[in-house]
Amino acid sequence: MTNVPSLFWLRSDLRLADNPGLAAAASGGRPLACVYIVEDGPHRPLGGASRWWLHHSLKALAAQLAEHGVPLILRRGRGIDVVPEMARALGVGSVHWSRRYGEEREGDAQVKDALKSGGISAESHNGALLREPWQVKNGSGQPFKVFTPYWKASLAMGALPAPTGKPEKLCGMPLPATVEMLTLESLGLLPVSPDWAKGFVPEWTPGEAGAEKALADFIDGHLHGYADLRDRPGVPATSRLSPHLAFGDISPRRIVQAALFADQARHGPVQSKDCQRFVAEVGWREFGYHVLYEHPDMARRNLNPRFDGMPWQSDPAGLKAWQRGLTGYPIVDAGMRQLWQTGWMHNRVRMVVASFLIKHLGIDWRAGEDWFWDTLVDADPASNPFGWQWVAGCGMDAAPYYRIFNPILQGLKFDTAGEYVRTFVPELARLDAEHIHAPWQAPPAALQRAGVKLGVTYPRPIVDHAAARDRAMAAYNQSGGGA
Ligand code: FAD
Repeated sequence: MTNVPSLFWLRSDLRLADNPGLAAAASGGRPLACVYIVEDGPHRPLGGASRWWLHHSLKALAAQLAEHGVPLILRRGRGIDVVPEMARALGVGSVHWSRRYGEEREGDAQVKDALKSGGISAESHNGALLREPWQVKNGSGQPFKVFTPYWKASLAMGALPAPTGKPEKLCGMPLPATVEMLTLESLGLLPVSPDWAKGFVPEWTPGEAGAEKALADFIDGHLHGYADLRDRPGVPATSRLSPHLAFGDISPRRIVQAALFADQARHGPVQSKDCQRFVAEVGWREFGYHVLYEHPDMARRNLNPRFDGMPWQSDPAGLKAWQRGLTGYPIVDAGMRQLWQTGWMHNRVRMVVASFLIKHLGIDWRAGEDWFWDTLVDADPASNPFGWQWVAGCGMDAAPYYRIFNPILQGLKFDTAGEYVRTFVPELARLDAEHIHAPWQAPPAALQRAGVKLGVTYPRPIVDHAAARDRAMAAYNQSGGGA
């Protein structure tokens, strides 16, 4: 038992369980305070949907901490300005936090130096990953550029790390009256007029309890069958844990261990293909961080510089139609509307809509990445730019540029009965499955029966698939993109 208090700086780790930094800060029964800083810079600010999630996740965590008398101090500003000042004001002996892996690293290092030079110990921890990016190296000691050997090497390092529980004891510290604190409401994280996040409420329960429930629902209901159904956007077959992971409501160690235990109980020691596939998807997230660590500016720069010469189109009308789900391609429109209404989009459809923006409309992938950053509740500094660069063909282990998703065939293959389109594009709900992915090819009688008037109730395609494909390939060849 020690009386020297400590401070835990919360970032993307809004939970009590398996939070090594929090456990270290609380160890020995030290009096503890937590701080969350809404950072207005110098790095990329959170998008609108993420801010909604953050509000609710902070609210849930504040209530958990309050049960132990631990104060959650909310502030706005830059880490370098707030953390050392607060550490001094609280008289703490140590400050702990979970590591970040992108451009924020530089600022975090400055905070560490400032604390240390003030005689306060500063320690960072792994709160977000199964393995640190620098722990997994190829035979020559270099970072991996391709997922499969990366993941094999990570698995070969031994059992994936197990989670720890909640700290055994949390003791709050009394705050001096001089410590400046903001209220959650005053941070202004929620949209007001209009409240575009109304549709998020029935979909999500941000916070640790919500994450645990989502995990349990997935393990009980959907892990079995995941490998076959995970590509079907009309079926609730995936975990939807991504926003919980993005904010650290839950750790990847906890998720992986729960999946492995449940799988073992059902299938014995040989892992099922469902479990293998699910854990490997968490592995893709890890790989994204492995790449981000090497390329902190991944959201702005083509990882393959040969793409720097791509003649991207300036097409504000096309971009707007894509953002609003009014391209005339039903699977694309359903995806973009799912994103707007719920803050989330199915992975298969993310690939289709990204390909459509980049290749059918010829728009720079960064415009799409920005839109996702603003509208996804799971907007992630590694997975989002990684996913966009993967689709564009300029990323690490990326799909070749010339792999241009055909939105009609993707719809027919993965949303065969059209349930997904019917849910998010209600104006096509009565169209039969045969025509729902290409209404402009439907006979007039079928359109009439379904109450669809092309160009009136639902747009005609804003680009022709074959012509767009040719233009995309011409741009690619002209730029020497993949040469
Ligand atoms: P599940 O299928 O249940 O998978 C479990 C977990 O594994 C996910 O929660 C996620 O953490 C991880 N995962 C699954 N698929 C991927 C993948 N392809 N890449 C990396 N991690 C994966 N994911 C984000 O978390 N944030 C983003 O900002 C993001 N942007 C993307 C942008 C594009 C263009 C693309 C193609 C993909 C993007 N992804 C992003 C990856 C993926 O679409 C989501 O992680 C997944 O849809 C989340 O749904 P889920 O939790 O039900 O996944």
